Amino acid sequence: MTALFAFDDATCQRLAEAHGTPCFAYSGAVATAGFRALRAVLPSRVRIAYAVKANPHADLLRCFAGLGASFDCASIGELERVEALGLPAGRTFFAGPGKRASELQKALSMGVRVQAEGFEDLARLDALATRETAVNLRVHPAFDIDEGNRIIGGSGPSAFGVDEEAVPALLEKAARLAHVRIKGLHVFAASNQRDAAKLRAIHGAVLDLAKRLHEAHGLAFEQIDLGGGLGVPYAPDEAPLDLAAFGQNLSDLLARHAWFEGELILEPGRFLAGPCGVYLARVVRLKESRGTRFAILEGGINHLIRPLLTGEPFPAKAVGRAGEAVPHTLAGPLCTSLDRLGEVRLPALTAGDLLAFGTTGAYGLNEGMTHFLSHPVPPEVWVD
Ligand SMILES: *Cc1c(COP(=O)(O)O)cnc(C)c1O
Repeated sequence: MTALFAFDDATCQRLAEAHGTPCFAYSGAVATAGFRALRAVLPSRVRIAYAVKANPHADLLRCFAGLGASFDCASIGELERVEALGLPAGRTFFAGPGKRASELQKALSMGVRVQAEGFEDLARLDALATRETAVNLRVHPAFDIDEGNRIIGGSGPSAFGVDEEAVPALLEKAARLAHVRIKGLHVFAASNQRDAAKLRAIHGAVLDLAKRLHEAHGLAFEQIDLGGGLGVPYAPDEAPLDLAAFGQNLSDLLARHAWFEGELILEPGRFLAGPCGVYLARVVRLKESRGTRFAILEGGINHLIRPLLTGEPFPAKAVGRAGEAVPHTLAGPLCTSLDRLGEVRLPALTAGDLLAFGTTGAYGLNEGMTHFLSHPVPPEVWVD
């Protein structure tokens, strides 16, 4: 389950021949095993809401829905994809810093729990609502909850949530709204975190913040949403998250916060979707330039932009190739020197060789710059 590649070489070869390259393939078995492994360690009062943003592929959503997942959406497009699953009300959340009126209307019509990002969200939702509507309030903590995390952005100014120090004034105004009632808290505080002790510290800080709000304002939270951020390995030397410890830590936190009788929500995207995906692309040509050996591939940052955004490549293997590993710079076909998928050591490549990039089920194709240069969009294959 913690393997970097969801498919062995023979399967990669077969998929490439059957569907052409470049392509993405997702393993239903790996996605199912990952979901079940997480569910198995969580206390019953913890709910899993898959973050659709990580990978909105219809078969993957159906797979998680069948396993009992709830869903975290952040656009009308994601809401529509989840609506197509035909789930009962109450299994969908709607987050995002720029929710338009049409999106709030859609969320209301679907019975979705909105994560309000500030008073404007509450007021606009209130104007659209026709009956009592429970919402969660996203709070931007006043303390640096995961120091140095560029995605989370520290305790400085943020486009997300209401600043912790502005909560009292917001609650006063919110109390005068006709329909909207704050019944939950949302704090998103981690990103690709594989260290269970760090997650415990982050989630503990969120529960402490909830307790302060509960005591100061009498907020009886039905839900505390801890957001996503569970990490996965992207390299052989990276240890996976210790799931048993993670589950135990959440049990301990619930026991320590006896005042809280509601439900904890987790919104994992990367953890649930990442390991099931493999991206397959062939080498188009090789080029030596001033001592660097380039392998130029059929796809690059148009399909996998994460290496450019984070500086962290996806794991790569040369399918069916053995031999001494030598350095290659993997470049894509785009007319920009930004188009690089990593510096890797692989057996000496030749044109036509098949490369597989592992752990590309999350933040893969749907985060890529697919429109740039108008290359055909690669197929996504669901392997059940
Ligand atoms: C991106 C996002 C997630 C998922 O984050 P992962 O790091 O993939 O687990 C969950 N919730 C919200 C609100 C998000 O924006």
